[in-house]
Amino acid sequence: MSISPSATDAAELDRYVYIRRARCPRCASPDLKTQKTVDNGDDSITRETKCRNCEHRFFVVVE
Ligand SMILES: [Zn+2]
Repeated sequence: MSISPSATDAAELDRYVYIRRARCPRCASPDLKTQKTVDNGDDSITRETKCRNCEHRFFVVVE
């Protein structure tokens, strides 16, 4: 299946939601490793994440 949305087609614009990918808050690298995923029970999840670039550990919350 090919995805090639036309930017000029207004009817298509409400069918795409872009989620920005998580980046390391310390070095801004997108090269992350999820170590643990916790379901918060309210349709959101918290991911315990480690940066492969600088080894910083942090939490990514996906709402
Ligand atoms: Zn980092």
